[in-house]
Amino acid sequence: CGIIGILGSHEVGPQLVEALKRLEYRGYDSAGIATIDASGRLDRRRAVGKLINLSDRLVHAPLPGHSGIGHTRWATHGAATEANAHPHKYGPVAVVHNGIIENFRELREELIAAGIRPESETDTETVALLTGLHMTRGMSPVEAARATLARLNGAFALAFIFEGEGDLMVAARKGSPLAIGHGEGEMFVGSDAVALSPFTDKITYLEDGDHAVLNRGGVEIFDAEGRRANRDMSRIDVGA
Ligand code: GLU
Repeated sequence: CGIIGILGSHEVGPQLVEALKRLEYRGYDSAGIATIDASGRLDRRRAVGKLINLSDRLVHAPLPGHSGIGHTRWATHGAATEANAHPHKYGPVAVVHNGIIENFRELREELIAAGIRPESETDTETVALLTGLHMTRGMSPVEAARATLARLNGAFALAFIFEGEGDLMVAARKGSPLAIGHGEGEMFVGSDAVALSPFTDKITYLEDGDHAVLNRGGVEIFDAEGRRANRDMSRIDVGA
C-alpha cells in the first residue's frame, strides 16, 4: 500500500522504516525492506503486523547498505503472511508493488512452465520472477525490468533493485501514484511526497505509464512509448 526507495549515503534501513511510518496512515497488514550492502549483496527482512515487528527484527538482524526499498502491504492477492509480504525477491531482483497485476495468473503459469516455482500467492511475485528470468537469459537489469513492464496489465507502482547494482533503481507507475525525490547525491522514490519529506522537498511526479531509471546522480524518465520524457520538478511543502 506504500512504497519507498532510497539510493542514499547513509545506512538506509532506519531511513526506510522512517519513511514507511509516514505511509502508515494508508493502512497495512505487513511490511518489509530490502537493501544492497557495500559488497553488492541483496537481502531482505519482512514481518506481519505493525512496523514495530519489522523494526524489532531489524534490531536483532540489521540489514546494512546505502540502497534499498521498503513496503507496507495491504493484501489483495494472498493472505497477510510473511511469505506474501514484500519485497519479493528472485535471484538478483527485489521488487515492491502497490496495486494489482491483473494478468498475474497467466504470467505465473508461464513462469511455472519455464521451471520456476513461486514462493508466494501474490500477484507481485510474478514481477520479480519474470525480471529475474529475463536476467538469467542475459538481459541487463534495466532491459529486464522494461521487458517485464511491457507484460503487465493492471494498476501498479513498482520499484526494483538489483544485486550487485548499489547505484541503480528502476521505478514505474500505471494507475498508482509514484513520486521521485531529488537529493544531493541521493535519489528517492515514494508513494507520496509525505514519505519523502524527511529527505527532500524536490519532487517529480511520474505520469501514467512512465518508468524511471535512477542512480545517485539523477533520474531519466521514459514515457509509455519508451521515449525520454521531461517531467517538472517542484518544491513540495508537506509541513512538519
Ligand atoms: N497486490 C499486491 C499484494 O497483494 C500489493 C498490495 C498493495 O498495494 O499493498 O501483495
